Amino acid sequence: MRPLKAFINQASLQHNLATVKQLAPHSKIMSVVKANGYGHGLINVARGLNESDGFAVLTLNEAIDLREHGFEQDILLLEGAFEAYEISIAAKMHFNLVVHNLHQLQMIEKLKLNRPLDIHFKINTGMNRLGFNPQEAKEILKTLQNKSHFKSITLMTHFATADEPRGVDWQLSVFDDIAKPFNFSRSVANSASIVNFKKTHLDWVRPGIMLYGASPIMGHKSSTLNIKPVMQLKSKIIAIQNLSKNDSVGYGESFKAKKDMRIAVVACGYADGYPRHAPTGTPVYVEGKKTSTVGRVSMDMLYIDITDIPHASISSDVELWGEHVPVDDVAEKSGTVGYELLCAISASKRVPIEIVHG
Ligand SMILES: *Cc1c(COP(=O)(O)O)cnc(C)c1O
Repeated sequence: MRPLKAFINQASLQHNLATVKQLAPHSKIMSVVKANGYGHGLINVARGLNESDGFAVLTLNEAIDLREHGFEQDILLLEGAFEAYEISIAAKMHFNLVVHNLHQLQMIEKLKLNRPLDIHFKINTGMNRLGFNPQEAKEILKTLQNKSHFKSITLMTHFATADEPRGVDWQLSVFDDIAKPFNFSRSVANSASIVNFKKTHLDWVRPGIMLYGASPIMGHKSSTLNIKPVMQLKSKIIAIQNLSKNDSVGYGESFKAKKDMRIAVVACGYADGYPRHAPTGTPVYVEGKKTSTVGRVSMDMLYIDITDIPHASISSDVELWGEHVPVDDVAEKSGTVGYELLCAISASKRVPIEIVHG
């Protein structure tokens, strides 16, 4: 069997959830498990995060999958219903729906529901992605209070710059102004906001990336946030090449040896989700030592420098990211964020996942 595998550490999920609890002790935790648990496998992560008060997913199928695996927590559909039939199912199965525009609200109000809905009413406070604009929100909320369609209403918004110098105040003040006259629950904080702004914790927090042990803030190392990497992406050396000075490696001769070198070929490529944009010098870990990639990443393979690791041989284990190589370091070198790399692993559908407990 091809040696590439993603190991998912359940104890690290529990640890990271505990860290969120320490940071926001008075809030309920809605763990965000969209995109197949950020690439870790939906049910795997839900098991590790079972102490959560709720789970947030994207699609109805993910929500059903969680229920069918016995999870009884609140389940929120982050973009609400795309089509009317989903609303009836959501009501029946006790899923909580985001309502972010008039179109969705009208779809709901046209239906005869057997059971009233729990909704998250989403307000656009400046990100301009989803949500009612502030004026619209104020007016609609007054009318929703008395409608029999709704059992509970939670107000939510999403921050655009919780991880950047501009912060959240410019959006939070708009949100507070709308929320003040009402007695609804409130949910605003993503991971960056949980870490950076205590005042955003409110009734619910919605951590995503930090639960998986990657940093929500560029340039802020995950190790300083008391979170542990959950995914370890591992493979093995499948071939070794000895280069003489001026030999090149891989497609396009993008790397030329300046001296004699020993190069290992590792079974992992961009078709697996490893970034093709990872340049020469991207960190990897082999036989107890950090080294780095050389040359251009291929579809199924990549190259690493083992000149100074003489005991590295065919079948040696290689960590592409995980405990010794933060996924954020690979991402930074590749001009992206940990989120994208983690999600890409399950999107590729080529990397088997194995659960490890502690
Ligand atoms: C994805 C998402 C989150 C989680 O964001 P992280 O940055 O991963 O913590 C929270 N809220 C909403 C609405 C989201 O879409």
